[in-house]
Amino acid sequence: MSKLPNIATSIFTVMSKMASEHKAINLSQGFPNFPVDKRLTEIVAKLATENVHQYTPISGYPPLLSKIAALTKKSYSRVVHPETEILVTAGASQGIFTTITALLKTNEEVLILDPSYDCYEAPVLLCNAKPIRVALNDDYTPNWEIIDKACSSKTKMIIINNPHNPTGKILKESDFQSLELLLEKYPNILVLSDEVYEYITFEEKHISANTREKLINRCIVVSSFGKSFHITGWKIGYLIAPEHLMKEIKKVHQFLVFSINSICQVAISDYLDVVSTDDIKKMYQEKRDYFRGLLHGSRFELMPCEGTYFQVASYSAISNENDVDFCKRLITEYGVAAIPISTFYGDGKDLKLIRFCFAKDNATLEEAAKRLCTI
Ligand code: PMP
Ligand code: GLN
Repeated sequence: MSKLPNIATSIFTVMSKMASEHKAINLSQGFPNFPVDKRLTEIVAKLATENVHQYTPISGYPPLLSKIAALTKKSYSRVVHPETEILVTAGASQGIFTTITALLKTNEEVLILDPSYDCYEAPVLLCNAKPIRVALNDDYTPNWEIIDKACSSKTKMIIINNPHNPTGKILKESDFQSLELLLEKYPNILVLSDEVYEYITFEEKHISANTREKLINRCIVVSSFGKSFHITGWKIGYLIAPEHLMKEIKKVHQFLVFSINSICQVAISDYLDVVSTDDIKKMYQEKRDYFRGLLHGSRFELMPCEGTYFQVASYSAISNENDVDFCKRLITEYGVAAIPISTFYGDGKDLKLIRFCFAKDNATLEEAAKRLCTI
């Protein structure tokens, strides 16, 4: 008997595998294909011969913890205690899984806003807790009235993802005000704020939960160096949470992984001395604009993209197929892989939308767009 009968292989695995089998341009799974900053690879090369190969403390390599605290102060003016309020994790994924399994009890409920990234539901189910899917509005803004109605004494956690994968939407000041008002009514609800694309926002400023006085004592903020520094394969990220929650999270973390890859931690710690998160935004804004421009004459209708490195497009002027079939045909007939948006919905809602990842070098974007413009 499966513990997770309704959980399928992740769509990112499925589409990347199919892209590779058909030698298609892979704009499906989100990862950059351009070289990593030379300063980072030089740091790694130098570190390889140094004494950095043994376990670090559970929370993380102490200098890295201090630098994460400094980055959090610089980015969000939040002062966090490096030893008690930060945890370095094996990517955001492990941070999210560990948080959920450490904090949820049987029959408690977790609100997940639909559409949503795919990694939240399985750990909730493994806790014998209940994922409650709440639809975002048609423009992907949260509907605070419906969210309020979905809350009860059973609700333990609301998961927000800001900037949002797949839609690229970012939460506004008014959203935070509504959330804070709602939480006043429910003093036991925690917030898991997945902010892995925090440094990839464009015209509008990212508002982090780290900046919200009313949230920080009941919120776990999730970050990913994989996204911020174009090193998704390193699988390294971190959590920020108040000490009373972090204590519980660390109880699970110590037996799940104990500590995270040491050389990656030291490398990122050194890299944080020289890198600026401002450059990331500019680079991806140019890529977004370039990719959108390339698709201008196509029959795809492009949705707004306020953040992340994903572009959602409607193909309803092209085909009536469901989005999974359309994505498969896009690979086999046109050599471009994308992600069907229905897979981000609890009920598989098909809106004839697909997601492209534009974290690619310009030659790749140009060739992909050339193919997409022939459809
Ligand atoms: N959350 C969101 C919204 C994501 O898009 C991703 C994608 N990787 C993750 C979490 C997981 O990040 P990581 O690769 O650092 O585990
Ligand atoms: N977050 C990436 C995406 O949305 C996928 C990461 C993964 O494959 N787990 O494409």
